[in-house]
Amino acid sequence: MIVTSNIQIQKTTRSRVPEVDFSKLEFGKLSTDHMFIAEYRAGEWQDARIVPFSNLSLSPFALGLHYGQTIFEGMKAFRMADGNISIFRPEKNLERFNISARRMCMAEVPKDLFMDALHQFVALEHEWVPKTEGSSLYLRPFMFASEARLGVKPSDEYYFMIVASPVGPYYSQPVKVKVETDYARAAEGGTGYAKCGGNYGGSLYPAMLARKAGFDQVLWTDAKTHSFIEESGTMNVMFRFGDVVVTPSLSSSILDGVTRDSILTLAEDMGYGVEEREVPVAELEQRLQDGSCKEAFGAGTAALIAPIEYINIHGESYRLNIQQDALMYQIKKRLTDIRMGNTEDIYGWNYLVKL
Ligand SMILES: *Cc1c(COP(=O)(O)O)cnc(C)c1O
Repeated sequence: MIVTSNIQIQKTTRSRVPEVDFSKLEFGKLSTDHMFIAEYRAGEWQDARIVPFSNLSLSPFALGLHYGQTIFEGMKAFRMADGNISIFRPEKNLERFNISARRMCMAEVPKDLFMDALHQFVALEHEWVPKTEGSSLYLRPFMFASEARLGVKPSDEYYFMIVASPVGPYYSQPVKVKVETDYARAAEGGTGYAKCGGNYGGSLYPAMLARKAGFDQVLWTDAKTHSFIEESGTMNVMFRFGDVVVTPSLSSSILDGVTRDSILTLAEDMGYGVEEREVPVAELEQRLQDGSCKEAFGAGTAALIAPIEYINIHGESYRLNIQQDALMYQIKKRLTDIRMGNTEDIYGWNYLVKL
């Protein structure tokens, strides 16, 4: 058993924070000064520590490098209007982390270890949480198999780590997407609902082909029939059909996004209908033709909302007229206001980091 208050902290002797231009941040480029590491060996998590950010030393036999036992999470810490720091719904990420771990046959991380690590890490890096509205500190917990073995098997050893990167206000330009009918991101019974590295590795090639054909990303469909919409690139996808927000229901091939869940909650409370159900490509096409599809957008932590302007279905392109007061922007504002502390957090989504 890990004693969770037992995280050893070794501070850097020279912070890089004074050198950073917080007005010019590229997503995921800069690391903060430190990193969190815990190692799973002999059936327990041990050596939990925060140390200066540095390269790792690993055996080339490390199982994670060969057989894909790698999972990750993504969430953000915000500087609120009153100067406090909050992390958005980290317990949801912890739950999902362990769902991913179970699917990939990896060790689970106890809640108190995860939350203590996150809290202490963000508190130590508080100067890295940007002060401009819309900017944030992107947090990346991840785990990989580290046992040195070439034979295929679930690893007996893991590294659980947290690293972070300050990010600017990520404004997504309206994107062009195509409904993908040749490749699949995830299949029923596969690993699509887990946030594992392989899902991303497998999506890069179809995404590259789509970009070459002039699209920003693909709208994934079900692997078996390619006739139901699943996700948009690495985000969940949502539509506004009339006054109803519609999104594909969760399944083994769809990632249970925290942003997705938050948006559904807010849309409902704002008086809109909300439907989690199958979204047939044929229905989407029909609604794009008759104008009842009013909005389409991706939903995920990095961009929050990525407005979709063009949807290509079987070679036919449809344009959505994006209004300034679109529902997706109203929801985005609500969510931002809650995170900044400008609106009361009636849902208890902000996890405050006490310094
Ligand atoms: C991470 C992820 C999402 C979005 O999840 P959030 O918790 O909202 O960031 C959606 N789809 C896929 C495939 C993802 O990996």
